Amino acid sequence: MQTITLHDKQFKPFISESELDDAVTKMANQVAHDLGDEVPVFIGILNGSFMLVSDFVKKYPKPCEVTFIKLASYEGVKSTEDIQRLIGLTQDLTGRTVVILEDIIDTGNTLEEVHRIFKSENVKQLLIATLFYKPEAYKKDFKLHYVGLEIPNKFIVGYGLDYDGLGRDLPAVYQLKTTQHMTNLVLFGPPGAGKGTQANFLKEKYDLVHISTGDVFRYNIKNQTALGTLAKSYMDKGHLVPDQVTIDMLEAEVERNAGAKGFIFDGFPRNETQAIALDKIMASKDSEVSAMVALEVEDEVLVQRLLERGKTSGRKDDSDESIIRNRIKVYYNETAILKDYYAAQNKYFGVDGIGGIEDITKRLNAVIDKL
Ligand code: AMP
Repeated sequence: MQTITLHDKQFKPFISESELDDAVTKMANQVAHDLGDEVPVFIGILNGSFMLVSDFVKKYPKPCEVTFIKLASYEGVKSTEDIQRLIGLTQDLTGRTVVILEDIIDTGNTLEEVHRIFKSENVKQLLIATLFYKPEAYKKDFKLHYVGLEIPNKFIVGYGLDYDGLGRDLPAVYQLKTTQHMTNLVLFGPPGAGKGTQANFLKEKYDLVHISTGDVFRYNIKNQTALGTLAKSYMDKGHLVPDQVTIDMLEAEVERNAGAKGFIFDGFPRNETQAIALDKIMASKDSEVSAMVALEVEDEVLVQRLLERGKTSGRKDDSDESIIRNRIKVYYNETAILKDYYAAQNKYFGVDGIGGIEDITKRLNAVIDKL
């Protein structure tokens, strides 16, 4: 199942056809079990319940009657609190067991109307069955005799339920994506390509949160945390810190910035395991990696830049040419394949990383502005 668009909104898969099928089957069997030999009248509330009622009565293992009613607001009256007009109830229900089949019960306002209407029908008993129930939204205290699935208080479409007319026909149920659109950049390039420098400009311009895994590790080393001690032994040699340690740390950083408009990931992912983990983390936020923007710089320029930086940064891994060369080697052996990973999704954008800092920023902006 895929994300779908209805009018101006996006919806993500929520409940599959087979889960719906199970829930409906279970409800039908429960009702049948409880009613014994009684022939019930199932009443669907239109429009939303048409698909449920159709499936429900097909699964109902005994004889039954089925009919539909519709509640409509009086012309010109819009508020949900208003008394509604009933359409379609022509049958005499005196002495009958009536089972209302609702697609969804949220606030319970419709249910209140149903109770009001049936008060004068002299039924034997009025039972309420609903496929979906939102406990967080329910404000009434009418008993719900049968509930298919309890769901959180989020807007859903499909299986009879619509968003402004669309979506009723979908055989599965989708949930509104509520998170705002995020711009998530993977800033890529070998050590010394200028990722940190450029990230500082990009985060200002696009209001993004910059996460540099190298910086987070160095912060932990400085503060002598357990994570820092562990990371240091790898970093000093120019090796990668183990994936799970790095991924957990990155996830915690993303969580700490829950309201962010987007992220610049700098130094992460560095291999395919990390890239797959990042996709999962972003998917859990209803988002995704928007692009990998790579600063392309030749090796010899990198070595010179890093040795320069080592003179002032105090970074041990910037001061020794063999460690620098090893980091560049690690980049080509383990990290550079990520170019293919993102290129396969049309998300790779290479940018010439040689030249003035401002010129390079402009090249990056040109790419990002088109995303
Ligand atoms: P950087 O500042 O990005 O050059 O990273 C410095 C060092 O931190 C690397 O050489 C690794 O030892 C470690 N490191 C940073 N990011 C990661 C990562 N995504 N996975 C594993 N190790 C990392």
